[in-house]
Amino acid sequence: MTEVRPGNCQAPTMPPPSIVDYRPHSTLVTAAHPVPRAKYPAIDFHGHPGNRIMSAPALATMVKELDELNVGMMVSADNLSGERLRQALATIAGSPQKDRVRVLAGIDFRDVGPGWADKAVQQLEADVKAGAVGVGEISKSLGLSITKRDGSRLKIDDPDLDPVWEACARLNLPVFIHTADPQEFWQPIDNHNERWLELSLFPGRRYPSDRFPPFEELTTERDNLFKRHPRTKFVAAHMGWHANDLARLGRMFDAMPNLSAELGAVLYDIGRQPRTAHDFFVKYQDRILFGKDAYEPSEYPYYWRVFETKDDYFDYYRNYHAFWKLYGIDLPDPVLKKVYYANALKLTPGLPRGAWPQ
Ligand SMILES: [Zn+2]
Repeated sequence: MTEVRPGNCQAPTMPPPSIVDYRPHSTLVTAAHPVPRAKYPAIDFHGHPGNRIMSAPALATMVKELDELNVGMMVSADNLSGERLRQALATIAGSPQKDRVRVLAGIDFRDVGPGWADKAVQQLEADVKAGAVGVGEISKSLGLSITKRDGSRLKIDDPDLDPVWEACARLNLPVFIHTADPQEFWQPIDNHNERWLELSLFPGRRYPSDRFPPFEELTTERDNLFKRHPRTKFVAAHMGWHANDLARLGRMFDAMPNLSAELGAVLYDIGRQPRTAHDFFVKYQDRILFGKDAYEPSEYPYYWRVFETKDDYFDYYRNYHAFWKLYGIDLPDPVLKKVYYANALKLTPGLPRGAWPQ
């Protein structure tokens, strides 16, 4: 039944199509400005290159793809450490693309207990000496599922981790951290859940309350961590999963000067509120970093189009994330430059300078 007049419901006279079959063609005719290449070279701060940085031919292929998109540099957030980190760094350093990729170091959060922090800091120092330029991507499993040596859940703000965050401040390393997930993943799958299709396609993405801490508990622990280490520079992945509530992220930026946010995989929220997002990006232009997350060259142009145009009502690249359309937020050039590369350069002293526009 659907309401056809106030207080008057009616059933469709034909069987309604299912949520997966209903794909209306929009009749809206309006100017379209696809953007295959970013206007300014971008740093992808949320890269998951995987094996693409483990061999010279694979690296050359990836950088060719990045060239087409005008992605000037990828920051690998694959949690590499020790031998595998050294292998990646050697591949990069020995290649003609040596300034196109930099690598964050991973922290191993298993077995936290007495003595853990000393070892973790030692490993981090070795990884930085080898060439790592930051830490990350700290996975959502910190908070959601990792347990301590004593069997209890490892909380994001556990004091046993403090020496690691202090070492990151001392070594001037940004800490790239993914906490929780879209808040609908904690909600019942019913006709009001806007991620119904995704949760139905990927049931493992749900966080039933008998097995996982609530969304708000995780974000509270995360914010405690950011506040307790004001000298450590944190970058919240996926805009902290608050792109659907930018005022909340704004309050966090105001309260935590050591916090920045990366925007990978939340384009569906940015592009559905073009005026609010435009104003937010202008106000917090020094705090937001471009990142893509999953590596798929064909998807970057959707980001360029949202940031650089004022196009109306165009498709997003994953219909199970968002059944709605996107709009361009038309960022001014100085803001684009900061979001695309200048903020990442400022935050990460280990990134090569050089080829970036002034
Ligand atoms: Zn990631």
